[in-house]
Amino acid sequence: MNRRQSAADLALFGAAPLFAVPRSTSNLVQPEFERFLDYARTSFGQPGGTTRHLEERLSMFHHADYCVSFCSGFWALAASIVALARPGRREVVMPSLTYRRMADVVAWTGLVPHFCEVDATTLAISATTATICINDDTALILGVHPIVNCCDVQGLTELAAQRELPLLFDSVESVYESCDAGKIGGFGNAECFSLHASKLLNGFEGGYVTTNDAALASRLAASRDGRTLERGALDARLADTHAAMALANLDELDAQIARNRERYKRYRAALPTVPGIRLLNFDESSRTSYKNVVVELLDDWPLSRALTIDILNAERVLARAYYSPPLHSKPMAYPYIPADLPHTDELATRFALMPCGDFVSLDDIDTVVALLHFIHVNADEIRDLAALAAAGASI
Ligand SMILES: *Cc1c(COP(=O)(O)O)cnc(C)c1O
Repeated sequence: MNRRQSAADLALFGAAPLFAVPRSTSNLVQPEFERFLDYARTSFGQPGGTTRHLEERLSMFHHADYCVSFCSGFWALAASIVALARPGRREVVMPSLTYRRMADVVAWTGLVPHFCEVDATTLAISATTATICINDDTALILGVHPIVNCCDVQGLTELAAQRELPLLFDSVESVYESCDAGKIGGFGNAECFSLHASKLLNGFEGGYVTTNDAALASRLAASRDGRTLERGALDARLADTHAAMALANLDELDAQIARNRERYKRYRAALPTVPGIRLLNFDESSRTSYKNVVVELLDDWPLSRALTIDILNAERVLARAYYSPPLHSKPMAYPYIPADLPHTDELATRFALMPCGDFVSLDDIDTVVALLHFIHVNADEIRDLAALAAAGASI
């Protein structure tokens, strides 16, 4: 950062970027290669063996009776929604401020997203925000955990019981987490997870469902193996090589969490030097993965989020908007219940994901924070240059 004297020294205005190699917000954790090979080797001659081993390990890990693996989180969710939705009803109550493909999953099953607001503190669906969307056509409540901390598991569980509705959790971002009620993985009718390379537990690709319901577990396995003819039944099995990768990463999970914690602590120590930005804190009173680093741009942050992210991206700091656009305001090619969600609209303008994961060093974090500081100090000049650039003037 030292060589930067003024706004014109930013990559957005033509200077060389701060990082030669992009610093991303994805995890991309790699296990010790030999450990992966050992698991892969044992799968020779016993097809499905490593995958079953992974399912056993994951059901123990999550304190759930059953684990059914899938080729992706997407198909784990689709099969679970098909299996759990109340027959004859069409609507799935779900948040709008969430993972960009969540509505696609629901639409794929032939059901209709009914988007609800999120709680301003947890940034997640809650019993309060879900209740007002429940009606005679509600087939399922889809509780999605946010990317920092957990949604209100207890409240949603009580709501689902009261209204006699099935409750499915998307727990992709809460693999390691515990909440007041216990370890994530044993709540609702089922919980869905992903083993994509960008997630906490990297299996290259993959997903799984945990549940304490034996009948549901066997129905999901039959659907996953393409042994039934219901909607969503297709060969969605997890390959043994993927299971080997996930097992190796599961063995090393605690070490990964320790590294995530170091990175998070570095952000937490450095960010308060920058006015107008707030780090979303992990709830350290229960188990947490420290995986994602999310900041809020407060009212006194001097630039728009879009311009801020453009500046960071030009420096190869791959910060991303969290989440934008929210699902209810995205053009969609399938039916959904139109919703007016002012809180979601407002929250969708305020947050950004910062670089994290195993390819981001503590020094990188210092550099990113220094860049944010530089942006704050030079905000007026940056705004002027950006306006000039937008007007097509040469600078
Ligand atoms: C990534 C993700 C999924 C989908 O998982 P894939 O394995 O990529 O299909 C579902 N839900 C959330 C919250 C996610 O972040």
